[in-house]
Amino acid sequence: MPVHSGGCHCGAIRLRFETELDPARIEIRACQCSFCVRHGSRAAADPGGRLTILVEDGAKLQVYRFGLRTADYILCRECGVYVAAICGDGEHARAIVIVNALDERERFSREAVPVRYDAETREQRLARRRGAWMPVEIQGR
Ligand SMILES: [Zn+2]
Repeated sequence: MPVHSGGCHCGAIRLRFETELDPARIEIRACQCSFCVRHGSRAAADPGGRLTILVEDGAKLQVYRFGLRTADYILCRECGVYVAAICGDGEHARAIVIVNALDERERFSREAVPVRYDAETREQRLARRRGAWMPVEIQGR
């Protein structure tokens, strides 16, 4: 499967986004929650693909939670870059990747679709992510 690499700014966190989807066609979502708006985040996921987060020093990995606390927002503690969000644990973990943290971010060229999930219940939110987010593994933590 093709791999799109990326990571945070200082290199403490590396990303491997595996997908058969054409980067020029994959849907880009601009979540309008109060966290993502502050980061201007553009997110993507391929349920048939996979995300690997590699971190040599687990102390560099910052996890932030807010609101319903159903997701872990993954940031670099060193350089502050927001790289991914993860929902669930172990083999059930699912993620989105932040497109701007990928090396070839320009290839993900679709206009971001603004999305609002404020009205979701906790159950609706988890169900949506199970369907739309992708398998994820953190290596080296
Ligand atoms: Zn960093």
